[in-house]
Amino acid sequence: MMSFRALVVDKNADGTVTSSIRELEEDQLPAGDVVVNVDYSTLNYKDGLCLTGGGGLVRTYPHVPGVDFAGTVESSADARYRPGDKVVLTGWRVGEVWWGGYAEKAKVKADWLVPLPEGLTTREAMGVGTAGLTAMLAILALEEHGLSPDRGPVLVTGATGGVGSVATALLAARGYEVAAVTGRAGSEAYLKELGAGRIVPRADLAEISKRPLESESWAGAIDNVGGAMLARLLGQMKYGASVAAVGLAGGVQLPATVIPFLLRGINLLGIDSVMQPVARREAAWRRIATDLPRDKLSTMTRVVRLEDIAELGPAILKGEVRGRVVVAVR
Ligand code: NDP
Repeated sequence: MMSFRALVVDKNADGTVTSSIRELEEDQLPAGDVVVNVDYSTLNYKDGLCLTGGGGLVRTYPHVPGVDFAGTVESSADARYRPGDKVVLTGWRVGEVWWGGYAEKAKVKADWLVPLPEGLTTREAMGVGTAGLTAMLAILALEEHGLSPDRGPVLVTGATGGVGSVATALLAARGYEVAAVTGRAGSEAYLKELGAGRIVPRADLAEISKRPLESESWAGAIDNVGGAMLARLLGQMKYGASVAAVGLAGGVQLPATVIPFLLRGINLLGIDSVMQPVARREAAWRRIATDLPRDKLSTMTRVVRLEDIAELGPAILKGEVRGRVVVAVR
């Protein structure tokens, strides 16, 4: 039996969590009906939690994190996939409850896979990854609720992060004016290169306003931050506009009033990428493959090795990782 390399997280006797790169045997893989030779995985905020034991996401150890991956089917007990097929996996709690993509091999349910979208390489698909798929799901939800480029600027919070970077590039490519909120000094040139029309300092939205309604500024918003920032921007939306709530990088509370809902008819749209039905995922990937400019994807992506991940996990939790990090697994 061939062994393969994996990044394995262990819980120590003192309760701390550490990771190391180890050789595993194929019979150690969990139950599943498709074995995938993983080319690339990525680093997402949730991976940071799984690598450090945060958020209570990982229940059993030893554990292989990596909430997404792209690769080639090695063997399949399911008629939908054959050896040689290129596939992508995001969500379904893979990398949290199930072993994930930080390994040369993964064994998963066929239901969790989607075929690699036409026009994307496995590396490009992971440049997008969970973060980018989520950005696209947010844009689809906003457009289904009436957003179009002629309505006015769209606010993206946590803009230099993974979701924020892909959202900025996707929106700009579609003709939207993007207002990018960032707390990161020196990131103006990066965000403008992705297509942001203007930069909003994080400090402008960091605290809740005394007034529940402020001037109507945004035709839509993709919020990766939550907390006071989400509460604040609700009061700045144009009449009838929608906010896609994606993330919690700034907190889980929502210290808001109901006034923007009642007086301006705004909508708060919850975005979940994890349990999203397959048909919706495929539609989102198709839009990504056609809309996302590949030069912008290169601008926001850097490729690292499995060995680099232990250090990057804590960094993404501190908001110190810019754009998308692709992990070359083999
Ligand atoms: P990143 O860490 O790459 O990006 C988060 C960004 O938020 C940072 O880059 C930073 O941007 C900003 N930020 C960080 N800390 C704070 C803070 N305290 N206050 C205000 N802004 C802050 O993460 P991802 O892009 O991968 O994910 C973004 C969020 O979306 C996370 O909370 C993640 O859990 C969530 N998520 C949700 C999904 C879903 O299905 N709903 C799927 C994927 C992610 P800047 O420096 O530019 O201000």
